[in-house]
Amino acid sequence: MILQLEQNASHEQIASLISRLDAMGLKAVMNRTGGHTNLAIIRGVDKNTRPDLFKHLPLVKSVTAFSDKFKLTSRDFQQEKTIIEMGDVAIGDGSLLVMAGPCAIESREQIWGIAEAVANRGASVLRGGAFKPRTSPYDFQGLGEEGLIYMRDAAREFGLLAISEVMSPEDVPLVSKYMDILQIGARNMQNFALLRATGSSDKPVLLKRGLSATYMEFILAAEYTVSCGNPNVMLCERGIRTFETFTRNTLDLTAVPVLQEMTHLPIVVDPSHGTGLRHLIAPMSKAAMVVGADGIIVEVHTNPDAAVSDAQQTISPQVFGEMMVDLRRIGQAIGTPLREVQV
Ligand code: PEP
Ligand code: MN
Repeated sequence: MILQLEQNASHEQIASLISRLDAMGLKAVMNRTGGHTNLAIIRGVDKNTRPDLFKHLPLVKSVTAFSDKFKLTSRDFQQEKTIIEMGDVAIGDGSLLVMAGPCAIESREQIWGIAEAVANRGASVLRGGAFKPRTSPYDFQGLGEEGLIYMRDAAREFGLLAISEVMSPEDVPLVSKYMDILQIGARNMQNFALLRATGSSDKPVLLKRGLSATYMEFILAAEYTVSCGNPNVMLCERGIRTFETFTRNTLDLTAVPVLQEMTHLPIVVDPSHGTGLRHLIAPMSKAAMVVGADGIIVEVHTNPDAAVSDAQQTISPQVFGEMMVDLRRIGQAIGTPLREVQV
């Protein structure tokens, strides 16, 4: 249920309405964007609850039911896009945010070299895994906290923000301590304990689509984090499993306009995991920008063939630089500037 409130309602009046609803056994969440003040009732109502129950409460102008199962992330509740501000950069504001870096942090020298290379070519966010979800337990699992420290220092030195994956609820405080954005990997999209734990972090979350998740399952996963108190979630399309084996996954770019319509959260595309093949990263990044992605995340390494993980899908700084030139040009043509850090 969504209660549309009087425009001029004060915070005190709204707080007292929320406590009144609380006393009725209902949990309400406020949203104040684009000149609207809405309250979503996210607990204590079901499909049999009648909207007129709320019509006579103070401040309430009108009452509507949610059109779907997801609530706080829906366009019903918030028409305007969510803009996530992170230092000097933002995502969701009509520009394209570029995140780049290795699949895994391998050493201090490696992450510093890559940070410098991607910063010089216009990336805003440095990516790199310190806790790696590997298919085999015998493969490199990541440097853990040591890796996060290397990456934090490198990102600071080159004026970048930093994003890294968190795999378990217990590690949320640790990864939040060093990183600007927490990544939840495809394999953990429905790790509900982890989703809840990131709800209490003050860091934005990039949630990757599960290997076989529908749009609805994807959005409901984001709803866990948002309903646990963290509104700053971005959704990342990273390819899904299909019958096609030529590419590692099938990058579902249809997800971008569909998710943009269904939710107000920023949408990111990962053409690296989405295709698994180097020569497809630039074309699919450009396509992602054209279909309306708010950001892209790509794997870049100063020596792609020597990358300890995901070498086949990792591009060199040179290829990344050429792609950035093209993205800047396309952006000018379609009115989507590249979001670049002023250093
Ligand atoms: C990654 O970003 O390196 C990664 C493991 O991604 P995904 O969860 O999409 O497989
Ligand atoms: Mn990877």
